[in-house]
Amino acid sequence: MITSDIKIIRERLLEGDVIGLPTETVYGLAANVFNSSAVKRIFETKQRPTTNPLIVHVASISQARALVKKFPEKALLLAKEFWPGPMTLILPKNQTVSDLVTANHTRVAIRIPSHPLTLQLLNHLDFPLVAPSANPFNRISPTTAEHVESYFPSIYTLDGGPCQSGVESTILGFEEDEVVLLRHGAIPIEAIEGVVGRILNRTHSSQEGALPGQHKKHYSPNCELIVTYEPLFMLSAVKNKRVAIVWFQTIQIESIDVEVNKVLSPTGDLAEAAQHIFSVLHELDQMGIEMIIVERLPAHGLGLTVNDRLDRAAAK
Ligand code: AMP
Ligand code: MG
Repeated sequence: MITSDIKIIRERLLEGDVIGLPTETVYGLAANVFNSSAVKRIFETKQRPTTNPLIVHVASISQARALVKKFPEKALLLAKEFWPGPMTLILPKNQTVSDLVTANHTRVAIRIPSHPLTLQLLNHLDFPLVAPSANPFNRISPTTAEHVESYFPSIYTLDGGPCQSGVESTILGFEEDEVVLLRHGAIPIEAIEGVVGRILNRTHSSQEGALPGQHKKHYSPNCELIVTYEPLFMLSAVKNKRVAIVWFQTIQIESIDVEVNKVLSPTGDLAEAAQHIFSVLHELDQMGIEMIIVERLPAHGLGLTVNDRLDRAAAK
């Protein structure tokens, strides 16, 4: 059920329900962080393993401080620069945050989202919200209220329009004096380094589970997906399938024999491509396409984030 009435959503949350919520990254499935049965229902609804921790959404830096033992200096610098915004900080939790939320980890993931409706909602609640992305485990992340409804028809979802960033938050950890990139996201590395200097990149850590819940296969459509710098070359090997090609900037040859051609950003803008990627995948999946070939983006800025999501969507 889709609603634009924030009061209904607030009441549902006070009753201990799970609701759908717009953020600037993707839509979330939200509940009161302090209500364990509501938090459990999030895991059940998403069919998410309980070893995969949840991000806590707060209204202010002071509300974030109330959940942690320590707020490192560089974390505070980043929070002041990028919050509200698509940046999640992993900080040492205090006893107010349950082990269920953090999947038994001693640290908790926190951010202030920048969607106006969700900020308004958070400011009218006296508890933060856990809000993982509102998709069943491993499926494509939702970037409209309609996507959430198609996954979870019986849940109330607050309609906040299409998401502005369209990809999940950037996740950062802190080790002694170092800032560590743990997941590529809607804020590019370059912007973070502009504030705190060089950061460590652990997104490709070979240690299995360096960041809990970052599964090799994730964000997947029902059909087969291939990501490549050479879409036409890949196409030449495909026979008798309904194929779509998703181009970054321009369609290389108009006359090719595919069912659909999509362009992520005619002007070659990486942020625009990120904004559109999940909704294009949703659309093609719903059309019953059998194979999606996606052109890999240039490997810098938000191109790295989109390529990360595409590689996971393509994983078997
Ligand atoms: P999402 O489902 O998009 O909200 O992403 C949640 C992701 O944030 C998880 O899969 C983890 O990778 C990461 N995360 C959340 N909480 C923690 C935590 N306490 N420690 C480390 N990573 C976390
Ligand atoms: Mg997710």
